[in-house]
Amino acid sequence: MTAESHWPVIGHEWAITQLDRAIQHGRVRHAYLFTGPDHIGKTTLARAFVMALNCTGPNPPCGQCRSCTLTARNAHPDITLVEAETVGGTLKIEQVRGLQQTLALRPYEARYRVAILRRFHEAQQAAANALLKTLEEPASNVILILTANNPDALLPTIISRCQPFHLRPLPIQTVQNALAEGWNAPSDVAKTLAQISGGRIGWAIRTIQDPAELDQRKAALELLEQALKGNRRARFALAEDMPAEKTALLTILDLWQGYWRDVLLVAADSRSPITNADHAGAIVQLANRFGTDAAQDALNATRRTLQYLRSNVNIRLALEVLMLDYPGL
Ligand SMILES: [Zn+2]
Repeated sequence: MTAESHWPVIGHEWAITQLDRAIQHGRVRHAYLFTGPDHIGKTTLARAFVMALNCTGPNPPCGQCRSCTLTARNAHPDITLVEAETVGGTLKIEQVRGLQQTLALRPYEARYRVAILRRFHEAQQAAANALLKTLEEPASNVILILTANNPDALLPTIISRCQPFHLRPLPIQTVQNALAEGWNAPSDVAKTLAQISGGRIGWAIRTIQDPAELDQRKAALELLEQALKGNRRARFALAEDMPAEKTALLTILDLWQGYWRDVLLVAADSRSPITNADHAGAIVQLANRFGTDAAQDALNATRRTLQYLRSNVNIRLALEVLMLDYPGL
């Protein structure tokens, strides 16, 4: 049991240790950048860090004091969350300007005024440039925490002014234990979900609370398997039937990305366990049929399409191109 393990965060112990030490030694920086895949707990870690920074109880974050409870409920007057309106949307310059006005005020009651800028890879160029000014001239009682799934999508000048923490998916066993102990999941359910989550604790928790997530995953993977059996025309028809809504599409493509990673692992004879273990049969077949190069190409094409979708291209066209890029035609 480490001193930091009472932070309300699952996993990421090394980051908690460093952040806790910075607070203990009065070496808190003005800006932090938490990067890593979606749903691994970047915002949860950010919120816990803010709780620890402003906690007035013993052994911060105590989770009991006014500051901790308000922060946990996203209701603290000194803490501002800034994010694009929807996942896959755009964080706009007006939002950064609004934040800057807020940050110019002294904290109402907390030690620090804090802004959490979530999914900052979705920030417009102009928004990122506007934020630079705040990063360059930090006020003494202001702390910025940025989260992003991919540091490559950020301006190097932004990255260089933040202390980076690159977070990774959690060990599968950690997710499994959390589901069994924290959410009372039966052990077989906890095991399967943890495996499918690929260590993305946020996804696992959401899924245990809302089983519809699992149905959506099933539909997305079956769609892919069906597309790979089809000719050009069948694939276009499937692309045509896919949801037009961006958030839903991002979820589907993200699942496809994980699926191709599995095909690649099997094709390359890797010993790493595959994520979509419940689709192992189909994955082995595809690995044998297509081999390593085609699986790698398909994985790259899926990644590329995910980036296109995030940057507002013609969605329909991007999906059709992806369908043609996939092997087996
Ligand atoms: Zn507290």
